[in-house]
Amino acid sequence: MHEHVQKLLDLQRVDLVVSSLTKDIDLLPAEEDKRRRRLEQLERGANTAAAVLQKAEIDSRGCDSASRAADEQITKLNERLNVVRNNAEYQATLFEIESVKKDRDQLQDDGLELLEQMEGFKATATTTQQAFEEERSVFEGFLAEAEKMRSERADEIGAARAKRDAAADGIPPDLLREYEGLYKTRDRLAVAPVEDAFCQGCYNKITMNDVARLMGGSAVVRCGSCQRILYIANA
Ligand SMILES: [Zn+2]
Repeated sequence: MHEHVQKLLDLQRVDLVVSSLTKDIDLLPAEEDKRRRRLEQLERGANTAAAVLQKAEIDSRGCDSASRAADEQITKLNERLNVVRNNAEYQATLFEIESVKKDRDQLQDDGLELLEQMEGFKATATTTQQAFEEERSVFEGFLAEAEKMRSERADEIGAARAKRDAAADGIPPDLLREYEGLYKTRDRLAVAPVEDAFCQGCYNKITMNDVARLMGGSAVVRCGSCQRILYIANA
């Protein structure tokens, strides 16, 4: 086997170990993003529901105080009826009392409607807040698990990466880059065995000329179909 191909094969073994150690850890950032977005969405939902409830409470208090003010005004207007000097003033005051009463009734209706709505707003605010808090606790658990996984495996990964650097040592840079590209794009099989003149990476037949070159062990031979770097197990 060509010396560089042997080195690449050894490197691939180490890379497979690194890949298996980091595979699930590599997925963590995307998973964290997804969960964080979901949590933020729930938080926005809870905040919106709380704001709706708060506004309804403020509006309700506003209706109450405006309604009380109207009652006071009606009392005063009724008192004025006793001291008016002529009929025109009397009629005007009666008219004003009717007008204020009408406003007050409207305020009371609005207040009642708000009170009815508020039951629903309260329920929504409570359930959305609970959903947010539950998800937050799940998310915190996820972060703790992820951190634990990272720290537990940090030593192992560090050791595997050091081995990787050592295994890559002495491989010509161009060939190493080619290998790394293939490792990524060819499903972690950049260096593939040949059996009975078939590339075991893509199962296409290779030429007899390439088989001969492989047997000779003096050239780096690629599969004409998948471009993987080839070797014959016993050559
Ligand atoms: Zn192939």
